[in-house]
Amino acid sequence: MMVVRCILGQHNLWLVFVAALLCFCGAGVTASLFRHALRAKNNQWYAWLFLTALSSGVAIWCTHFVAMLGYAAGTPARFDPLLTSVSLLIAVFGSTIGFMLATCRFARFLPETGGVIVGLAIVAMHYTGMLAYRVQGQTTWNMPCLALSVLAAVVLSVMAVRAGVRTGRHAVAYMAGVLAVAVLCVHFIGMAAYHVQGMQQVGVVASTHDSLVLAVAIVIMSFLILGGGLVSGMIDDSSRAESVEKLRRMALNDTLTGLPNRLNFHQRLDLELDWARENNARLALIGIDLNRFKEINDLRGHRAGDEVLRILGRRLRGLLQDNSGEFIARTGGDEFLALCRAGSGEQIRTFLHRLEEVLFKPIRFEDSEVLPGASLGVAIWPDHAVDKETLINNADLAMYRAKADPARRPCFYEPAMDEKVRTRRKLAADLRGALKAGQLSVCYQVQRVIATGEIRGYEALVRWQHPTRGTIMPDEFIPLAEESDLILQIGEWVLRSVCMQAVQWQQPYKVAVNLSGMQFVHTDIARIVANVLEETGLPPRRLELELTESTVIADQTRTLQVLHQIRDMGVSLALDDFGTGYSSLDTLRRFPFDLIKIDRSFFGASQSSQHTQAVVRAVLALGKAFDIPVMAEGIETPEQLNMLNAAGCDEAQGFFLGRPTPLAEIIKDGQISMHQQRKRVCFALCQGGSGEAMLPCMKKLRESGVRSRGTG
Ligand code: C2E
Ligand code: CA
Ligand code: CA
Repeated sequence: MMVVRCILGQHNLWLVFVAALLCFCGAGVTASLFRHALRAKNNQWYAWLFLTALSSGVAIWCTHFVAMLGYAAGTPARFDPLLTSVSLLIAVFGSTIGFMLATCRFARFLPETGGVIVGLAIVAMHYTGMLAYRVQGQTTWNMPCLALSVLAAVVLSVMAVRAGVRTGRHAVAYMAGVLAVAVLCVHFIGMAAYHVQGMQQVGVVASTHDSLVLAVAIVIMSFLILGGGLVSGMIDDSSRAESVEKLRRMALNDTLTGLPNRLNFHQRLDLELDWARENNARLALIGIDLNRFKEINDLRGHRAGDEVLRILGRRLRGLLQDNSGEFIARTGGDEFLALCRAGSGEQIRTFLHRLEEVLFKPIRFEDSEVLPGASLGVAIWPDHAVDKETLINNADLAMYRAKADPARRPCFYEPAMDEKVRTRRKLAADLRGALKAGQLSVCYQVQRVIATGEIRGYEALVRWQHPTRGTIMPDEFIPLAEESDLILQIGEWVLRSVCMQAVQWQQPYKVAVNLSGMQFVHTDIARIVANVLEETGLPPRRLELELTESTVIADQTRTLQVLHQIRDMGVSLALDDFGTGYSSLDTLRRFPFDLIKIDRSFFGASQSSQHTQAVVRAVLALGKAFDIPVMAEGIETPEQLNMLNAAGCDEAQGFFLGRPTPLAEIIKDGQISMHQQRKRVCFALCQGGSGEAMLPCMKKLRESGVRSRGTG
């Protein structure tokens, strides 16, 4: 106590107070910068290390210097400028080495070693500073006291650095506190070891005016430097906080649409379910899947797909009402889940209506319009499910049901749906093996010239002979195949089989083969057609490919190029199902079609004859304008045929003229006869034999010089 009082008695207490304040502030800034250096990597590490060492050096040096300015030796004193400067460099340089070791976590005990070096730097700075302090008189040192100051510096610095490298909320405060105590201990214990001979004992020794001015200047300078370090740390902290917030948002939101993502949705659903349980309320979960999104993506490109999602995301976000419990998330590529509190049936219906409004509104993309549309399936908690997983699953089932519904109305979950979905999944799995197992076959439906009744050709229509379910029609399994790449194999198989069969007919009828849009996008269809024609020897002019408008309208430049390649081979192109899609004049103007097929729906029972006639006349006028013949599909009655004849329609196809029939039966009826030598091969094909297996046989026949009438 005596010693403390004695030491303080030799100092200007105001300057001691300022030095201590500076020391604690400097240590605080140093500790905070040290934490940045600890986290930083590469170049940033060097930058933070420099700032840490600078603030530490400035804090150590200024504490000492300001305290010395307030020290009254009782005899004239001055500072040696060179040694004083060197002492500052020692503080900065020693801190650099110490904190470098402490923050580069290459080996164990580096923080402790770093701490020792920082401690030694404080000691070295202090005693170099004391060497720079020149008094008129004899100075002596109390060695045990001096040793104590060294020990205190090293031990406390190691403790400070160890506190700084620990994790925890108070690491910075601990480090700062201990480091400040280390610096102050070295100074005041060091001063206790210092004696000037002849020094008069005085009470409070006032500083000279010059010392005060110098002290103020140094304090200002050091606060400026420390302030700089502090501000850099704060800027880094705030940008780090922003990044963390951004990451958090990214983790919970979908970046493309800005809607919450699946994880976010699950968290929200948990909360809403808790709320519903507490309030005895009901919740409606709505599964949403965009219609034909794959088609938009495949046919118009991913940019268009992304744009559609972005716009829909914006619209969906816009429709949510505050404080209503409404929530929408994007949970997959083109899948969304929506949530609303279902007080009454009316409330759900209104929400569904609002959803439909934004989902079905056309989207402008570049110079065309995309009609998005979606299938909505609803499951209610607790009516349709008691737990979260079942609720989501049932909304999904209802959504699939909505997808299969041609009217595309939102569907509410019903227990029978489980069974249907299981069946559909099983069918998709069975289809994988169907081609290999030889379960697919082709039927032919005749196409006739209306005016003369003569046969113009046959459309090939694929059938699936399922081992337990019997014949399955393409309307059921082609969409399933189109959901995977299976359609590519099936499409190529149909093309090859049909060409192989048709080449053996004595009558050179045309054969029409349906192409899926997927075959256009995912394969080099022109090359496949050329290969098949080459392999089978079918004259190209006997092959007609049927495409729908949605196939061609997409990637127009590429499609146009491919269609021209196909047409240049001599293969003709038919525009299928005309009147159901865009029915745009542009399609007819730009693409080289050889035939327009009016869709069969216009001849269905639901259509009035006036309506049908109007459509036929309109399409005929179009055909005439573009010089393209027109064929009517789905003709079931003689009246329809007469009407078409009177209107001047060129060709027709329909049950009235002939149903899709296996080739063997057509041959039996005598409509088609076979080249003698090939009957055996063809018979095997009619039985549903694999087209590929027949190829070597076909080649042999061709090489033996037997040519069909077409090739001959
Ligand atoms: P599509 O190209 O419009 O084929 C004509 C469909 O109309 C056939 O149905 C045919 O059986 C039916 N049809 C013909 N005449 C009449 C009629 O008078 N009345 C009625 N109500 N219907 C008639 P199918 O064979 O069930 O084929 C359905 C669709 O499946 C086809 O429609 C076509 O889009 C697709 N498809 C068939 N085979 C293939 C194929 O090999 N590849 C691809 N990608 N799609 C195929
Ligand atoms: Ca067709
Ligand atoms: Ca058609």
